[in-house]
Amino acid sequence: SDQQIVCTGCGVKIQTEEPEQLGYAPSSSLEKEVVVCQRCFRLKHYNEVQDVSLTDDDFLKILNGIGQKDALIVKIVDIFDFNGSWLPGIQRFAGKNPVVLIGNKADIVPKSVNQNKLIEWMKKESKELGLVPKDVFLVSAAKGKNISEAAAAIDEYRNGKDVYVVGCTNVGKSTFINRIIKEVTGEEDVITTSHFPGTTLDTIQIPLDDGKSLIDTPGIINHHQMAHFVDKRDLKFITPKKEIKPKVYQLNEEQTLFFGGLARFDYLSGGRRSFTCYLSNELNIHRTKLEKADELYKNHVGELLTPPREEQVNEFPELVRYEFSIKEPKTDIVFSGLGWMTVNEAGAKIAAHVPKGVQVMLRKSLI
Ligand code: GDP
Repeated sequence: SDQQIVCTGCGVKIQTEEPEQLGYAPSSSLEKEVVVCQRCFRLKHYNEVQDVSLTDDDFLKILNGIGQKDALIVKIVDIFDFNGSWLPGIQRFAGKNPVVLIGNKADIVPKSVNQNKLIEWMKKESKELGLVPKDVFLVSAAKGKNISEAAAAIDEYRNGKDVYVVGCTNVGKSTFINRIIKEVTGEEDVITTSHFPGTTLDTIQIPLDDGKSLIDTPGIINHHQMAHFVDKRDLKFITPKKEIKPKVYQLNEEQTLFFGGLARFDYLSGGRRSFTCYLSNELNIHRTKLEKADELYKNHVGELLTPPREEQVNEFPELVRYEFSIKEPKTDIVFSGLGWMTVNEAGAKIAAHVPKGVQVMLRKSLI
């Protein structure tokens, strides 16, 4: 029949085809009297939220809805991909609501990086993007680092109100919320999902002790993120799992470095000097002469220069070249979603090549 089954937990339409999309339930579960989607099932039985993603339009609707609430907004970004994981328009949608910014994945940042500088940079960058957060935290959801501090601050800033947690896919939003749940509930199975009339269907509510809720919103897919240009199996080349080990390259003028086949760095002029690369330890860095670089890429992307995989080369976006003069000592060249390079002394001319849509920028070094 064409009768639409809905989840008794959150009210979303049930579908049985796509496990990673909203409303998924295995078809075998449809025979049960009470049907719940996989997301509600996991929350109910394992105290765990699961990430679902939404299309841009649906997401905008949710953001719009949050703006009209009186709540605290907790926005999570991936510090390894700060700009790529930013939610454009968040400042408009937050309206008068305060925002706490959480930079996740602190565990992969090398110890040599000054965490206070990183927080200062996040504040400055947010301001430039139009958002002035109430507070900024650097955490590792995976390792549990700074989670209790962040949780305590959230509880204070929410001031008896609901909390909406927002972030694009892959920033670690689910991991973060699951940490918070553990922190709040211990091992107790206290979470129940229920459909609150008038709330958006695709959000999930985690009850707090004062009758208010922590609300998990679906992650939006930021299509221009490097992570979407590589095969799932190759994510380790771009999203490090372990602390990054910096790699130093002594380069002469007119030498090129390829970062797999994902990006390219040309050292144009400024005398022999060193560059420190902060990239996934797994990513293969290939050095060549500038004059040979175009040819090498054309002939060897997908093979010597990988990722992308050979079968993906055709869909992989073209590399776009950006030229910079390094005018300040201790400057980072940031390849959004891939990492960064530090240049110690001013006076270098360089070019960075990244897939179309991916951002490159300069910042004051975090070291
Ligand atoms: P969501 O899509 O925002 O809900 O993100 P997930 O919680 O599913 O996490 C996305 C990916 O990032 C997974 O591979 C996680 O293992 C990883 N991840 C999450 N938190 C951290 C963290 O604190 N450090 C590191 N290194 N990886 C993390």
